[in-house]
Amino acid sequence: MAERYYQPEIETASREQIKAWQDERLVKQVRRVWENVPYYRKKMEEKGVTPDDIKGTEDLHKLPFLSKADLRDAYPYGLMGAPLKDCVRIQSTSGTTGKRVVAFYTQADIDLWEDCCARAIVAAGGTNEDVCQVSYGYGLFTGGPGLNGGSHKVGCLTIPMSSGNTERQIMFIRDLNATILCCTPSYAAYLGETMKEMGLTPAQIPLKAGIFGAEAWSEEMRQDIQKTLGIKAYNIYGLTELSGPGVSFECSAQTGMHINEDHFIAEIIDPVTGEVLPDGQQGELVFTAITKQAFPMLRYRTKDICVLSREKCPCGRTHVKMSKPRGRSDDMLIIRGVNVFPSQIETVLLNMGYPANYQIA
Ligand code: ADP
Ligand code: ZN
Repeated sequence: MAERYYQPEIETASREQIKAWQDERLVKQVRRVWENVPYYRKKMEEKGVTPDDIKGTEDLHKLPFLSKADLRDAYPYGLMGAPLKDCVRIQSTSGTTGKRVVAFYTQADIDLWEDCCARAIVAAGGTNEDVCQVSYGYGLFTGGPGLNGGSHKVGCLTIPMSSGNTERQIMFIRDLNATILCCTPSYAAYLGETMKEMGLTPAQIPLKAGIFGAEAWSEEMRQDIQKTLGIKAYNIYGLTELSGPGVSFECSAQTGMHINEDHFIAEIIDPVTGEVLPDGQQGELVFTAITKQAFPMLRYRTKDICVLSREKCPCGRTHVKMSKPRGRSDDMLIIRGVNVFPSQIETVLLNMGYPANYQIA
C-alpha cells in the first residue's frame, strides 16, 4: 500500500527546505520571546546573547536552556509569549514530579498541535472512512484533546470516550466498528486482555491500528498488543510543555518517531555538561518550539534520554527520527566517567536471558 501523508509537502520536504523553515522561524521566535517574555530575556542577558546573535539553527546552542525548574519559578503566567486576550486554552500535567505545568494555547497553537496529531493518525493508516476511538483522558491532560482534534482534522468519525469504564469501551469498539484506538499502551494492553478473556478473537475485533503513547512501553508489549487486538500499534510522543502528543510519531516502518521539525527543533545534549552531541549519540532531548505563540519554549530540557537518526526512512518522510525514550536523565549514573542509564543495563540483562529484576550495586 502506498504511504499516505496528512501534509505531504511538509512531511516529505527536502532537508534544505526544512532547514530554511527552521532558520526563518527560529530567528522570528527568538525576537518574539525577547520582546514578550521578560523571564527568558533575563536569561539571555545573563548569557550575553541578544536576538542579533541568532541567525539560524547553527546559533541555537548560544541560547540558554529552560527546564522544569524554570516552569515552576515562572508559574503560572511568567513564560507566556502572547497576550492573555489571544489565548484560548490551557492544558496541564498531572504534576507527579512537583507543581503542575500549565501550558497556554492561542487558536493557532491548537491548530498546529492538532495538525501534528493528524499526521500521526494518517501515518497509522487513518482516513475519513475510519472510526477513531479516543480513550486517552480528556480535560487538563493533553492526550484526549490532542488526538480528538487530530481525528477531526483527518475526518474520522471520532468517539470521545476518555479513559475508564472498560465494558463500555469494548461495547463502543464493537457496536460502532471502531478501526483506530488511541490510548496509553498500558490501557491498550488491558483492553486486549479483557477482550481475550471475553473470548473475542482478533478477527472479531474491528480495530486495525492503535496510536499509543504518553508513557514508555517495550517492543514485547507492542507485539503482545498487536497480537491480542489484531492491529498495528504505533508509538506517539509528546509533552505538555510543547503542546502535547504529536511532537513525534511513528510511521509504517515502526522504527523510531519522526519529529515534526517544521514546528520543533530537536537537539541531543550531554545531560551533565549541556554540550550538544552529534546525531547518533545518546543523550538528553532538548526542544525549541519555533511556531508556538502562547507558550514558546526555547531549548526546553525534556529529561528524556534518546538518540536521533537521520537515516533515510522507507516511508518517505524526511523529518529526523528519535528513538523511543530510554530513560530519564534524572536516573543517569556516572560510572568511572561514563554515563550509564539503568535501561541500558536492563537491555543487556534481557538479551542475556535474565529477568528484568535487578539491583545496581
Ligand atoms: P504528565 O506529566 O502528566 O505525564 P507530560 O506531558 O509532562 O504529562 O508527560 C510528558 C512525558 O511523558 C515525556 O517527557 C516523556 O517522558 C513521557 N512520554 C510521552 N510519550 C511517551 C512515549 N511514547 N514513550 C515514552 N515516554 C513518553
Ligand atoms: Zn518513516
